[in-house]
Amino acid sequence: MNIALIAHDKKKQKIIDFSIAYQHILKKHHLFATGTTGTMIMEATGLNVHLFQSGPLGGDQQIGAMIANQEMDMVIFFRDPLTAQPHEPDVSALMRLCDVHDIPLATNIAASEIFIRGLERGDLSWRNIVKSNRKKDKEK
Ligand code: PGA
Repeated sequence: MNIALIAHDKKKQKIIDFSIAYQHILKKHHLFATGTTGTMIMEATGLNVHLFQSGPLGGDQQIGAMIANQEMDMVIFFRDPLTAQPHEPDVSALMRLCDVHDIPLATNIAASEIFIRGLERGDLSWRNIVKSNRKKDKEK
């Protein structure tokens, strides 16, 4: 599965702790992240993460583009609801696209833990059906 990892600045330590705790699961998947979050996760865990631009420079929108193309299977987004973000429109757009395309979106560590354990159990295997149907549609 393709998984996006994003954390606002005050939540960076939390996503690092989360990535360390669940690296045995995360390492079985393709990981994508906004620039700073991904760099910190790679340094802390040694996991291989595809880096996009930093969030405020367009990273959220790059992840949004993958969602719009049905290429992202899960979004783990540790949002900071108590700090104004200069790229709030991008954040809203990313979350909106998750709802448009029915992509699982966890916006805090509690939900993320449930998601990641579900992923390990195979709860997201329906995504393979969605992707293969989409591939068939494209081939028509
Ligand atoms: P960052 O971006 O990982 O580059 O800090 C995250 C964000 O604020 O959207």
